[in-house]
Amino acid sequence: MMRYLGRMIKMTLDMETKEGMMEYCKKICERNNWILQKDKQTLNDLIEGLVKNKKRYGYQSCPCRFACGKRELERDLICPCEYAPPDIKEYGTCYCNLFLNPDFYEMHEEKFLQIPERRPVEKEEAVLEYMNKFYD
Ligand code: SF4
Repeated sequence: MMRYLGRMIKMTLDMETKEGMMEYCKKICERNNWILQKDKQTLNDLIEGLVKNKKRYGYQSCPCRFACGKRELERDLICPCEYAPPDIKEYGTCYCNLFLNPDFYEMHEEKFLQIPERRPVEKEEAVLEYMNKFYD
């Protein structure tokens, strides 16, 4: 469902620009009842990271996780990643602190909340294994 919504939104936006990516993220928020990170610098860095990944790989891979550019190995990391809904439900934020629960700022004083990595370690290892092939 998340992927379908993402595809529908993407069709109308140029996500290789910061403005387009920001619009995309706002629409994701609207549809999920989330809010965006309020710290301007952090938000800007995350949006820039998404744009960079979109240009480099053709998809907006998570800006705070390692990506290799092989889509089938990191479909789960295309923003909003598969882990965002359960993370926001449990901790009030996604792993990068880009998308937040509406009550996040009432619940937390921290500028950045470090939460556990929900992505299974096997997925990370598969990416590393793929990358290692280039260095053998
Ligand atoms: S952790 Fe947040 S920014 Fe990173 S991919 Fe998931 S939803 Fe996007």
